Amino acid sequence: RVKNSDKGTLAFFSSAMEHEALARMKVEQSLRLAILEKRFCCAFQAKVDIRTEEIKGIEALVRLRDNEGVIQAPGAFINLAVELGLIDELTHLVLDEIVKSIDLINETFGHETTISINVAAKQAANPDFMRPFARALESTGFPKRFMVEVTEDAFVTRSHFQDEIVPLLRGIGVGISIDDFGIGYSSLSALADITADEIKIDRSFITDIHKRPRSQGILRAIESLSEALGMTVIAEGIESFEELAYLQAATKIRYAQGYYFSRPIFLEELKPAIPLASEARMSLASRPVQEN
Ligand code: C2E
Ligand code: MG
Ligand code: MG
Ligand code: MG
Repeated sequence: RVKNSDKGTLAFFSSAMEHEALARMKVEQSLRLAILEKRFCCAFQAKVDIRTEEIKGIEALVRLRDNEGVIQAPGAFINLAVELGLIDELTHLVLDEIVKSIDLINETFGHETTISINVAAKQAANPDFMRPFARALESTGFPKRFMVEVTEDAFVTRSHFQDEIVPLLRGIGVGISIDDFGIGYSSLSALADITADEIKIDRSFITDIHKRPRSQGILRAIESLSEALGMTVIAEGIESFEELAYLQAATKIRYAQGYYFSRPIFLEELKPAIPLASEARMSLASRPVQEN
């Protein structure tokens, strides 16, 4: 409650705002510097087949190494990168890292796995980014390995993304994945107008799914619609055995991601003894939940 007459409150309020503005400027500065110095790296999280425990694909999740060497998760900087118009450059850095690491990716996760890259809805809507990005994916020589993950917002109104970019990407063999499905603005029926290969059910529906009949109902609806539309379903954010057991027993969902299987991991972590794909599979499947 800020009253103009109350000078104390106002002073406090404005210094808090100043503090916030200052903090934001610091993040902005460090983000610009990090881009210039290419201080980004990717962690990779497996998409696991919950029937066979095989790895179907991996998702690249960007991390920033700040100037003190501390690793920062994207929650702290992605939105700002979008606002500042730095996200396109960042996405190309992610692709560069994948291309550079492809041998290690193959040795670790297998040669057949898909490789997902997240693209912000704003980028997806911008053909001036997406056209060259599609060309960059194609020029890796392995475009069929890639999937682009984008939230449902990108599809809400008919857009360049849906009408032009999706066919362009699919035309070169790149898969389309709808990320965080269920928390955006599109209705279930909007799914019918979307051309995508994969739909990822947001973590919020998966948490404690075994105890939440409403989430179970939503899951069933998404599942049957996705089946009718020929889309693969992935459950995001499996953290417990109970959640997994529910999916296995009560649904036909075949794929999942989550800390229960594996945290996002840096490839360098695996370098000392590069496991064969099958060993990586087992170690991921049996990996206990651990702190970052
Ligand atoms: P996302 O694409 O939905 O990725 C899933 C996020 O959930 C990741 O967080 C992942 O580490 C986390 N996660 C996975 N399994 C579990 C689990 O079992 N429990 C919990 N609590 N969390 C889990 P992360 O890496 O912090 O990334 C956050 C978001 O940042 C991503 O959400 C994605 O939207 C965005 N992002 C990441 N990398 C990029 C990128 O290169 N470009 C763009 N535009 N966005 C990115
Ligand atoms: Mg994603
Ligand atoms: Mg997601
Ligand atoms: Mg997300």
